Amino acid sequence: MSRICIVGAGFSGAVLARTLAEAGHRVLVLDERPHVAGNCHTERDPPTGIMVHRYGPHIFHTRHVRVWDYVNRFATMMPYVNRVKATVGGRVYSLPINLHTINQFFGTALRPAEARDFLAGKRRHDIAQPASFEEQALAMVGPELYHAFFRGYTRKQWGIDPRDLPASILKRLPMRFSYDDNYFSDPFQALPRHGYTALVAAILDAPGVELRLGCRFEELAEPFRHVFYSGPIDRYFGCRLGRLRYRTLDFEAFRTSGDYQGTAVMNYCDEAVPYTRISEAKHFAPWEAGQFADTICHREYSRECLAADTPYYPVRLVHDQATLADYVALARQTEGVSFVGRLGTYRYLDMDATIHEALAAGEAAVRMLAEGARLPAFFVDPLG
Ligand code: UDP
Repeated sequence: MSRICIVGAGFSGAVLARTLAEAGHRVLVLDERPHVAGNCHTERDPPTGIMVHRYGPHIFHTRHVRVWDYVNRFATMMPYVNRVKATVGGRVYSLPINLHTINQFFGTALRPAEARDFLAGKRRHDIAQPASFEEQALAMVGPELYHAFFRGYTRKQWGIDPRDLPASILKRLPMRFSYDDNYFSDPFQALPRHGYTALVAAILDAPGVELRLGCRFEELAEPFRHVFYSGPIDRYFGCRLGRLRYRTLDFEAFRTSGDYQGTAVMNYCDEAVPYTRISEAKHFAPWEAGQFADTICHREYSRECLAADTPYYPVRLVHDQATLADYVALARQTEGVSFVGRLGTYRYLDMDATIHEALAAGEAAVRMLAEGARLPAFFVDPLG
């Protein structure tokens, strides 16, 4: 029986590979990069020895017990709470917007119920169904906080006016009338002690899985029983129906001695500052931060993703959705390949959602292969 090929050694590919291999299948996992873990890749910075998230900060958080148990099988997960700060107009504030942010910003000393009433006077009540990012922000926090914290940052991050972006992007962020400044609301939050690359390598370390790095799918001649493709869906089809738009990130590294900013992530919300945030790697590993005399930081710049760039965030505006629909139709007519993950389905997916979907897809695939059934082009509807 021929092997199953999995294109991409990120979380989708690794979890699928392991699930299939544990069911007795032989799997070849490819990645064109020289490392596993996709955009979650971590490695030590040679001059400082500090663990760096090469493609930007990734903080693992989930409400799925199953996903939490799964990652704990392969790594020691170190408790971590993501607390983000924001610099606006030369002052530092707490994020996500919480009671502290409101009191800092308006120079007040409001208690929770008072802050609710205060903000009720600022919020737009006439927007029942926010259709855009801007409407969502105005209905949630009112114009002052929107302009200070969201408008500039979002224009830099997406290169698109918030009036034209979907409300769903802002719905990722909580808004709290307490001093809880945890960026996430999930019950589990942690970082792998030895980084994400070690975690993904451990998932891939199973009998029946062969890993080939620095190898492009297009270079292979071997026939496969089935292909799971976690790369960009448009690229699989040679972009023949047009290109799906992404944002890519550029990182500008700098090293200093000591502690540069005293925290892991500082957002810069003013539009006049060209970068969106600065992350300081050693604060993502507080259990080892004391070992390092020096520090490494990265300024993060967002821009349109060109053909040779690494895709990060799917843009997914109306035009992109139409292009995606065309690729989805084409994929459904194409036999022998299933599209999975962030790039395969062109969605803004967190790591835990990626693992959750890959576990479900892997189990469904194992069942279908046992029955001799044809595997679908998608295990999750990319348009849904
Ligand atoms: N956002 C913002 N100001 C901030 C942080 C976030 O306007 O200080 C907006 C921005 O549009 C961003 C979205 O909220 O794309 C979601 O933020 P999140 O922190 O979830 O983005 P990620 O960490 O995935 O880049």
